[in-house]
Amino acid sequence: MKTMWLLLLWGVALPVFAGEGKWTPQQVLELDPAWLKAQGLKLPPQRLWDPKRGTGLLAGTVNVGGCSGAFISSSGLVITNHHCVFSIVQEHSSPQRDLISQGFLAQNREAELPGKGARILVPRAFTDVTKEVRAAVPAGADDLVRFKAIERQQKELVAGCEKRPATRCQVASFDGGSQYVLVDSVELADVRLVYAPPRAVGEFGGEEDNWMWPRHTGDFAIVRAYTAPDGSAAQYSEKNVPHKAEFFFPLAPQGVKPGDFVMVLGYPGISFRGLLAEEMADRQARYYPRVIDVYGESIRVLEEEGAKDAAGKIAVASTLKSLHNRAKNASGQLAGLARGRIVEKQREAEAAVVRWAEKRPAHVGALRAREDLLTGLKEEARTWDREFLLGNLRAGARGVTLAATLAQLARERVKPDMEREPEFMERELVRLKDQFEREQKNLFVPAEKRLLQAFVRRAQALGPGERIAAVDKHFGPTFSEKAVAAKADAMYGATKVLTLNERMAMFQESEAQLQARQDPLLAFGLDLATELTALDEVKDRREGARQRLRPEWRRAVLAHAGKPVAPDANGTLRVTFAKVQGYSPRDGVFYTPQTTLSGVLAKHTDAEPFDVPEKVLASAQAKRFGPWADAALKDVPVDFLADADTTGGNSGSPTVNGKGELVGVNFDRVWENVANDFGYNPDVARNVNVDVRYVLWMLDQVENAEGLLRELGVRKGPSVTGEGR
Ligand code: ASP
Repeated sequence: MKTMWLLLLWGVALPVFAGEGKWTPQQVLELDPAWLKAQGLKLPPQRLWDPKRGTGLLAGTVNVGGCSGAFISSSGLVITNHHCVFSIVQEHSSPQRDLISQGFLAQNREAELPGKGARILVPRAFTDVTKEVRAAVPAGADDLVRFKAIERQQKELVAGCEKRPATRCQVASFDGGSQYVLVDSVELADVRLVYAPPRAVGEFGGEEDNWMWPRHTGDFAIVRAYTAPDGSAAQYSEKNVPHKAEFFFPLAPQGVKPGDFVMVLGYPGISFRGLLAEEMADRQARYYPRVIDVYGESIRVLEEEGAKDAAGKIAVASTLKSLHNRAKNASGQLAGLARGRIVEKQREAEAAVVRWAEKRPAHVGALRAREDLLTGLKEEARTWDREFLLGNLRAGARGVTLAATLAQLARERVKPDMEREPEFMERELVRLKDQFEREQKNLFVPAEKRLLQAFVRRAQALGPGERIAAVDKHFGPTFSEKAVAAKADAMYGATKVLTLNERMAMFQESEAQLQARQDPLLAFGLDLATELTALDEVKDRREGARQRLRPEWRRAVLAHAGKPVAPDANGTLRVTFAKVQGYSPRDGVFYTPQTTLSGVLAKHTDAEPFDVPEKVLASAQAKRFGPWADAALKDVPVDFLADADTTGGNSGSPTVNGKGELVGVNFDRVWENVANDFGYNPDVARNVNVDVRYVLWMLDQVENAEGLLRELGVRKGPSVTGEGR
């Protein structure tokens, strides 16, 4: 009966724009099936998601360390982005065997390369726990108590859920606390690299092409998940066997053409469409410009220092890549917010809700909630600069972050597990330890020192109400280039935090042991940690207020909308419905939605980031297309655009056709669409995908990966289960 009502209520109300909405699996069933069919969905929506079992084809979409990915065979093969499994390639690369430049193809199963710390999460169940979470808040709780009660309840739900072996759970909050869902996933911990293209394919165009169109990047890689012989998830072992995937997406060798319907499935991380206009304006006025400024300074330092030293250049490469990505994203957000008049539009939309709610007694509480959210925003402004600096330590010297984290860990570990900050609970420590080990390859002392100086200079410039006491204590209250440089030299000269085995020993030590080391960087870290913890409490209280206020406001927004509204991204499984199509980025220009191998050749310059590898060049120049050319393009398609509603975290998302077959792999958005995090604009909302035919062309015409092609079912012959490659 309830479902009936939902269908009647929502069945006629369609999304405003076809592509808009990162729908939850449950919501897919609330959309009008006739509308979905008209869009191009050839499967009954229940095939995508069976509410009784709480699973379906959507569950073939997996989480790969914060990226997305998809099973593409019943024997555990997963396709994702090259940049998502880059650390496995890096782990097995050496100057003698440079897999990063050359790429890697496992000639048989034994040759597949295990990835240390690589994990794949396969969704198993989603349970609404809103009632349980709400009930945990004691009557009359103040905002900090509210936050802590909700956090505690989340931890307990997670602990209960994780009693099952090899299970990873999370309580996800939707619409600012309007709904809470317990997400239960199987954690596959034996993940092995099967294929990675050369970096010059996987990252073709580098930073220059990042967030842009036209694009010619082969940003894909293939891994395989393994389990114990009885099918249960297990750590790496030679005895393990390929994971039997219940749901997977077969490849569609015919690919796509303009106008085709596609779905992009994945784990979008965060978006901000549910924010108030003023909250958006705040991010526009303050947050993104500061990211560009602070991250930009770090980029300059790393580039300058890297240029002086070959090993240093390698060490800073991965940090540089992520800083560039964030900084360019921030510029894209600003450009898009201005171009799309997104804040202004949100103001108008909000005013309409306010007018509507004023006339409805059931929603007057929303008006008050909105006012209180705005007051909170103003209060935050007073210490914003300080909090930005402390909240973005990772953009600076890594040694400082390591030292502060060691201090926090030592202080948290003495508490009962349930009372620790979530990131220091037992369930996180294996990951944290891995990270502490892996960090070694990113450390480069000359760059570290300069980044520390930059941080200190910014901290010393803060106003009287925003001082960072740890900086004042260790570096004095005013900036002197010479004094700070000398102090940074002394700290890095004496510290053991950057020495791997010492750091791993510190990882286990108590606060007293850390103090006793009299390590100057650790001493700074210990003082900084005190401030980070105090700041956490301030932030928790604020978040408690938002948890009280936001649901009230959002209830009015949703009621006013009178149709299904997809919640903001929160790292949980979503699907977006889209069409392959180009767009006009500006007056007089139209971008077609497909690029080709000829385009790769046209960009080739012999120099990074447009240096096409020899073996790719040879096949492309000889026009050895095999069966992978597109009839209309008369060429092998490389990348394509669709109007799917994606964001960061959707990297590696399977892009599938109406029958649920893989036609591409999502890896980016276009420049004009970076600000879709704040609002969907159908004119420029385009995501960028690698065409499945480029994947197949690479495997076939460049790599001769016969066994893999057979396993993927696109080449006749024995072996569809990964045997005998
Ligand atoms: N490149 C992004 C990612 O890494 C995808 C996007 O932002 O559209 O998830």
